[in-house]
Amino acid sequence: MALIVHKYGGTSMGSTERIRNVAKRVAKWARAGHQMVVVPSAMSGETNRLLGLAKEVSPAKQTPEMLRELDMIACTGEQVSVGLLSLALQAEGMQAVSYNGWQVPVKTDSAYTKARIESIDDAKVRADLAAGKVVVITGFQGVDEGGNVTTLGRGGSDTSAVAIAAAMKADECLIFTDVDGVYTTDPRIVPEARRLHTISFEEMLEMASLGSKVLQIRSVEFAGKYRVPLRVLSSFTPWDISVEEEAKSGTLITFEEDEKMEQAVVSGIAFSRDEAKVTVTGVPDKPGVASLILGAVADANIEVDVIIQNVSQNGKTDFSFTVNRNDYQRTLDLLRTQVQPATGASDVVGDPKICKVSIVGIGMRSHVGVASKMFRSLSEEGINIQMISTSEIKTSVVIAEKYMELAVRALHKAFDLDASIPAIDEAKA
Ligand code: ADP
Ligand code: ASP
Ligand code: MG
Repeated sequence: MALIVHKYGGTSMGSTERIRNVAKRVAKWARAGHQMVVVPSAMSGETNRLLGLAKEVSPAKQTPEMLRELDMIACTGEQVSVGLLSLALQAEGMQAVSYNGWQVPVKTDSAYTKARIESIDDAKVRADLAAGKVVVITGFQGVDEGGNVTTLGRGGSDTSAVAIAAAMKADECLIFTDVDGVYTTDPRIVPEARRLHTISFEEMLEMASLGSKVLQIRSVEFAGKYRVPLRVLSSFTPWDISVEEEAKSGTLITFEEDEKMEQAVVSGIAFSRDEAKVTVTGVPDKPGVASLILGAVADANIEVDVIIQNVSQNGKTDFSFTVNRNDYQRTLDLLRTQVQPATGASDVVGDPKICKVSIVGIGMRSHVGVASKMFRSLSEEGINIQMISTSEIKTSVVIAEKYMELAVRALHKAFDLDASIPAIDEAKA
């Protein structure tokens, strides 16, 4: 008997019929003798709908006080899901009980709309499992020290599931979604994308952090920190395929690098439209200026990504960086009201219509010329690179948003990722 956590995303929970299907799949695993904890998302579109209602009521700029209320609203989608799934399980003849995050409790900090999980008390869940129940816990939700409801950021149900699996030392966490695994890039953008049988934890971390929404980045961080066996697989296969077959399907996140030694130089392409670029021009080129600019941004809890400082001319330089597009206006306002007067910068300008495209692969470590091949292939498409950022296992470029799909397709081909090319991991499988 194993303890297994299943997570079902919004599309998988998208209708009462699909919820009944999820219940059948979970019941199949329970009947095979496993203890089951299930973490569903809100039904597809529901979180957007709820946040849309909030916007209708309060279209003005977001204030910190509003964030608590947004969480109050957004978390309800998952409450409906757990109730429905628990009912569907009972209709399948299972004993099942549902909990909101605060009832477990899943304790978080108070960073509303992007809270971090701090601890999970699994006593109640364990007692239910011991009593033979399937336990259904809301994804996305938590509760802070003051008893306020929090949410974990968009896509946060992945993180709830992995964190619960980590806290309970589950044998495996299965992320059921609307694609049958992790692909070389988003198969909705590049139909030739190929499913990977395995992906290393480090690569998955990069892919997620660089925009591949198949897993929320924090879920991958948790999996790495607590070594949670993690698999991404389809919820759209027939529910009655055998547990053995299902347990081997999809993409396994691996922690051993050896298996991947022969892997292609580049394993995947990630991209993100959620980016915006800001530039502070004519700042004095002297110690402390970068920290003054970025310090002000960090104090406002705005995450900065790619940073570039130009070579100075006449003691002045331009300083550019990217932020999440949601934070774009707030960043511009802050730079204009606080940073510009404090540094004597000549101007603050920005561009919200940019995107970031990245190649990822642990194979890059031992290969030179990967970045230059990337730049060449973009230049052949006439795509101008605005910013570059590299690490050992990834190279990212910031380009105009209108070229995003073209760039992803060109790179997918240039690095031999198309499905027509036999992959090493498939050949070995
Ligand atoms: P869920 O609602 O199940 O959490 P998401 O929409 O959050 O599902 O994530 C699944 C989606 O991630 C897929 O439908 C796919 O479009 C997208 N995606 C982006 N990059 C990849 C990738 N490399 N491999 C697979 N899917 C990807
Ligand atoms: N329902 C939340 C969202 O739409 C969490 C999730 O689906 O993972 O972002
Ligand atoms: Mg998701």
